[in-house]
Amino acid sequence: MTLDWISPAKRLQTLPPYVFARLDELKARAREQGLDLIDLGMGNPDGSAPEPVLEAAIAALKVPTNHGYPPFEGTASFRAAITSWYHRRYGVNLDPESEALPLLGSKEGLTHLALAYINPGDVVLVPSPAYPVHFRGPIIAGAKVHSLILTAENNWLIDLAAIPEEIAQQAKIFYFNYPSNPTGATAPREFFEEIVAFARHYEILLVHDLCYAELAFDGYQPTSLLEIPGAKEIGVEFHTLSKTYNMAGWRVGFVVGNSQIIQGLRTIKTNLDYGIFAVLQTAAETALQLPDAYVNQVQDRYRRRRDFLIDGLAELGWDIPKPKATMYVWMPCPVGMSSTDFALSVLQETGVVVTPGNAFGDGGEGYVRVSLIAECDRLAEALQRFKEANIRYQSLPLAVPL
Ligand SMILES: *Cc1c(COP(=O)(O)O)cnc(C)c1O
Repeated sequence: MTLDWISPAKRLQTLPPYVFARLDELKARAREQGLDLIDLGMGNPDGSAPEPVLEAAIAALKVPTNHGYPPFEGTASFRAAITSWYHRRYGVNLDPESEALPLLGSKEGLTHLALAYINPGDVVLVPSPAYPVHFRGPIIAGAKVHSLILTAENNWLIDLAAIPEEIAQQAKIFYFNYPSNPTGATAPREFFEEIVAFARHYEILLVHDLCYAELAFDGYQPTSLLEIPGAKEIGVEFHTLSKTYNMAGWRVGFVVGNSQIIQGLRTIKTNLDYGIFAVLQTAAETALQLPDAYVNQVQDRYRRRRDFLIDGLAELGWDIPKPKATMYVWMPCPVGMSSTDFALSVLQETGVVVTPGNAFGDGGEGYVRVSLIAECDRLAEALQRFKEANIRYQSLPLAVPL
């Protein structure tokens, strides 16, 4: 029985359709047919959290006082571990009391930040393509999202000069993310200086998502927003343990930066959650203190997969520049094919799951995102199936049997 007198709040009705839904359905159907799926769709790292993290979690689990409500704002020792890690990486000092806040994953904080600062109708600047939370969070908060369309020609970098003056004047929050999910693009330090100057000039709250702080290759070191002089006066930066430490299911992240901005987020969170299970905070603390050798090993793993996949795709006609960071390959669809059609036909013909670029906004149309979340032997199998199904750049037949 359906309740015809009840309907979801407008904030849910205004959310764009969930592109993954149809893909999920087809994935389920393919699995039922016994197809051996190679799922490179989600940004969900394969493998376990590091051994020392597991040991710390098990030990912490046996401490009775860890089982009650944790402090709202996170344990003092996790906050101290966050600011020490931040200082070690970026040479910037932060106050663990007011300039760092643990989160139940950065997705939670990114969305709640919008709820803490956005009134219905407020303008929020978001690149397109973007990590969906960067626009879906503001939409839930009632924002008018102004999409900044990115292009391959501009190396997927935001063109600040192209933002209309009246939009810049109205904007309240600006979300951005380099190294970028989904494009894998990185931004030079000068870009960070420009966006900080822009946000200061127009008095915009600047939100940087540095999810891929550690997943960088070939000697490249991603820039942190707070390294830029003046950034802390207007901005915050979100971090997560999900990707670097294979802890996506643990739900631990944090935000650092301007204390006043963080205070708004803390206030809304105090009304919604009780913070992170103390056991997980102890584990996360351990992760942030792991020697660099761990991170180097993670980097090597993704770099090997990146090289393997991109070299293999080159043999099939794809000329894709190797991203300097992230765990994604951003792949153009064969000419004339939409991202949904291409992703669906790849799934049907090969059992390989990739994410259509339009899931990340209109600016992602014409591309699909491949996550490097399988070992090279599985990537080899995926490439072999592409070859057998004659899936190549340019030469793919345009008809999509559905
Ligand atoms: C994966 C990802 C996150 C991680 O979110 P959590 O909620 O911390 O797991 C955040 N931002 C971007 C850009 C991501 O790709």
